[in-house]
Amino acid sequence: MMMTDTLSERSALVTGSTSGIGLGIAKALAASGANVVLNGFGDVDAALAEVSAVARGGRVLYAGADLRKPEEIETMMQTVRQELGELDVLVNNAGIQHVAPVEEFPVEKWDDVMAINLTSAFHTTRLALPGMRAKNWGRIVNVASVHGLVASANKSAYVAAKHGLVGLTKVTALETAKTRVTCNAICPGWVLTPLVEAQVEARALRDGADRDTAKDALVSEKQPSGEFVTPEQLAKLVLFLCSDAGDQVRGVAWNLDGGWVAQ
Ligand code: NAD
Repeated sequence: MMMTDTLSERSALVTGSTSGIGLGIAKALAASGANVVLNGFGDVDAALAEVSAVARGGRVLYAGADLRKPEEIETMMQTVRQELGELDVLVNNAGIQHVAPVEEFPVEKWDDVMAINLTSAFHTTRLALPGMRAKNWGRIVNVASVHGLVASANKSAYVAAKHGLVGLTKVTALETAKTRVTCNAICPGWVLTPLVEAQVEARALRDGADRDTAKDALVSEKQPSGEFVTPEQLAKLVLFLCSDAGDQVRGVAWNLDGGWVAQ
């Protein structure tokens, strides 16, 4: 319980938090007392309601920004500063997937994956760091993937972006090493979110299988546990990294993946 109390009066931004893993992380931060800013597309009101329902004293706000657009990221970061002051916790979580062989990969999809999964984290980090340095406290958590550590066929943009995000994490950790700002990456295996539902559906179509069979086949192929990771488990890892116990965890790419990368 002590760990969950440490975030009251902290302010956090979670990108891509209207859905899936980001929503789970936003809820955990709010339940730990932090002010939380949500970002992302889709049903914003539902996400705000879900996070507000578990908030323990902190504010829950929304800052819309299309993370493909640096100028919208700048506006989002200014809005956050105006509302809550300097950020304490930055979770770069937004991400998209596109599956196709390299030679057929749509160029505009490559650009979108790079912009959302990698470049947006550069922009939020460069804009949040001066405030964290001024306070001499901060936590930057980049939601990478096992695909930041190993590859799978047909995911060139995603694997390149996530490896890049792990690289950005390490550099940021080194540049902040003498401060109380830390930067780390977490690397989930399969998590059953809308991003993965699309891949389950594609597999069901390909194999002529029902959804459940396709889902089991998808998870078992790469993940020895045969079970999905949950947003709640990932959120607890984020809370640990945000705690005092996380002070000397710097520049890691921490996989939570049912054994995927152990193979
Ligand atoms: P999701 O599709 O449920 O959520 C993605 C979020 O990003 C949504 O809130 C969406 O609105 C937002 N988003 C997408 N494009 C955006 C844009 N241009 N601007 C602003 N927001 C945008 O996906 P998820 O599975 O929860 O994925 C979250 C992160 O976790 C991603 O970075 C993903 O790569 C990573 N990840 C997911 C899995 C998995 O198995 N689901 C595994 C490893 C890593």
